[in-house]
Amino acid sequence: MKKTLIIMAMEAEARPVIEKLGLKPVADQQNLNGGFPRYRGGFNDHAIMLSLNGKCPVHQVDRIGTEYAALNTQSAILAFQPSLIINAGTCGAFARDANIADIITSNQPVVYHDHRVALEGFDRFAEGHYPTAYHPEYFAGIPHKLGVVTTGNSLDMPEIDEQRIIANKGMAKEMECAAIASVAALYDIEFLPIKSVTDHIDVEVDNAEQFLQNLQQASQRLSEVLPAVLNNIQ
Ligand code: SAH
Repeated sequence: MKKTLIIMAMEAEARPVIEKLGLKPVADQQNLNGGFPRYRGGFNDHAIMLSLNGKCPVHQVDRIGTEYAALNTQSAILAFQPSLIINAGTCGAFARDANIADIITSNQPVVYHDHRVALEGFDRFAEGHYPTAYHPEYFAGIPHKLGVVTTGNSLDMPEIDEQRIIANKGMAKEMECAAIASVAALYDIEFLPIKSVTDHIDVEVDNAEQFLQNLQQASQRLSEVLPAVLNNIQ
């Protein structure tokens, strides 16, 4: 049996996945003030833990971004000892690369587009380059695109970020993946991103507006694809 940890940032993204996989909430978590809502269950040959970044108690919103993704991932690894970590979530993409709700995964290292340190050695460190464990058979029968997942802590895309994304051939722009991949690498655990597109980063309409419009469709797509991938992973 494979122990698979699924890390997700937003409750709205995760809700359909939790339902489709039939996961049940883990009660009474004392770790880190219980800040990471967790769900457990079994699916085919997988024991599954799904762990969310949780809500900010001050602002009552999901704790999107890298800091809570890293804390979430490390504490979930210690609690569950997974052999595979999947980061499922939504992303932005260039219109030429993908349509809304398309699935993007990666056979290339995950990078940061907003960590810029022009000092020898630190420059490469800051960019991330954390490994992914893509196997074509995991996605047999599942339409998907392969590209670089690129992480930063902003939803918008200033020109300097766009330049970095293009230089790194970034396809899926999001806010958690590199942080999760770095913790997975720290513990030498296989890591796989599965992203669904909510917004086009190169069109006039505001990303936040597109995101809210397409969140449900993209999350629905994730909830169809995750069980299919888990079926394919033996
Ligand atoms: N405004 C939204 C918050 C979305 S933040 C709300 O009110 O609910 C974006 C979240 O989706 C992050 O977790 C990130 O990983 C992902 N995401 C989707 N599209 C993105 C984009 N274009 N840039 C960065 N992150 C994006």
